Amino acid sequence: MTSIRDSSNISKEDATATVKGWVQDIRNLGGISFITLRDRHGTIQITMPKKKIDPELFESLTKLSRESVVAVTGEVKESNQTALGIELIPTSFELYSEAGVPLPLGVVDKVNAEMDTRLNNRFMDLRKPETKAVFEIRSTIVELISEYMVKNGFVNINTPKIVASGAEGGATLFSVDYFGKPAYLAQSPQLYKQMLMSTGLDRVFELGPAFRAEHSNTNRHVTEFISFDGEMAWIDKEEDVMATIENIIDHVLRELGERCKKHLEILGKEIMVPKRPYPILTYTECLAMVNENGLKLKEGDDLGTEGEKIIGDIMAEKGSDLYFIVEYPEEAKPFYIMEKDGTDLSFSFDLDYKGQEISSGGQREHRYQELVKRMEKKGLDPKDFDSYLDAFRYGMPPHGGWGIGLDRLVTKILDLPNVREAILFPRDISRLSP
Ligand code: ATP
Repeated sequence: MTSIRDSSNISKEDATATVKGWVQDIRNLGGISFITLRDRHGTIQITMPKKKIDPELFESLTKLSRESVVAVTGEVKESNQTALGIELIPTSFELYSEAGVPLPLGVVDKVNAEMDTRLNNRFMDLRKPETKAVFEIRSTIVELISEYMVKNGFVNINTPKIVASGAEGGATLFSVDYFGKPAYLAQSPQLYKQMLMSTGLDRVFELGPAFRAEHSNTNRHVTEFISFDGEMAWIDKEEDVMATIENIIDHVLRELGERCKKHLEILGKEIMVPKRPYPILTYTECLAMVNENGLKLKEGDDLGTEGEKIIGDIMAEKGSDLYFIVEYPEEAKPFYIMEKDGTDLSFSFDLDYKGQEISSGGQREHRYQELVKRMEKKGLDPKDFDSYLDAFRYGMPPHGGWGIGLDRLVTKILDLPNVREAILFPRDISRLSP
């Protein structure tokens, strides 16, 4: 069996070859008919001159329904009419699976289907080379991240996804009935990756699902996303974490162009590698920028979708796709973030990419008493965090970390209009299947 990778795979000297795939298209021109057969790697033309082919075979092949799955064996012929430089003149075929008619979604149709129709029929949508390419590229992004992290001494971890307490605020918790006890789906691995900082596993990372009961229906929020989390001990300041993120993203963007040439070409995308260091804006500067541009945000407000977009446009004009936002008011940040002594600010940052937040991080509060104080200030009961707090009672090094939404990162790298495009089977407020 031969895959349709490129013509070098199917030698012109081969007398015969067998190719397997989906019948993408059939064209009958009277004396001659053509089938375009597709697999993961591309398409090949099956050419059927009526007079030279067994009539029964001709009849069966030309009657196939689009998207049926077949194996076709035939003679390989050179051709200057096809992209591959070869075509196959069939001598036999096997029908593995006949596709129903009509198709729920066209694979090569020019008409752009609605996002909902595409997601309802995702198996079919993914047959489109341009949809599939997103996930081939996403897979390489994960590979590049993991590669960089392991090379730089980070341990690849997995933390529980059924948890007893939330880390990112109660509003977006999904409740689970855990054998009669209340439990939640993890919003992030925050508490666990921090606990690990007390163990000597001083650099960890995780690529795993995070769940948020987001009631907002936006193009950047889903209820289940993949969070790329990192945590590192022995830092002196939040900038140590920012420098690490910058190194990771730079590595990914630099290598991606080289490793994903074919799939980027399918999407007509060129990867821009932003120059370093990434600019650093303060939250107060950002607030002024958005208010000068028509928004009415006050100190402490979230910059929100619109605010982030305004800043993104201003930074794009300056040639900066990626930039940090620092010095958030401590009030706007979770309990585990360290306060900047003597101010109402925090040692936290966001990383925005083309006008959208893709990551937040910072230096954590590692001092037990201060941490308890921060919990109380946020209206949380330290008793609910007993096992987390234990890890701070018996020796915890200074540490910091980040969470990057992998789906948002892919979306922004590829300039996709909606985060759902970067997720195989997205979950949102109104979507639970497929
Ligand atoms: P936003 O303000 O955009 O809702 P957030 O401040 O709630 O994000 P964090 O809790 O800081 O997000 O999570 C870290 C990262 O995880 C975000 O920067 C984002 O990339 C990703 N993320 C968070 N919530 C979602 C979501 N609902 N859908 C997709 N990605 C998300």
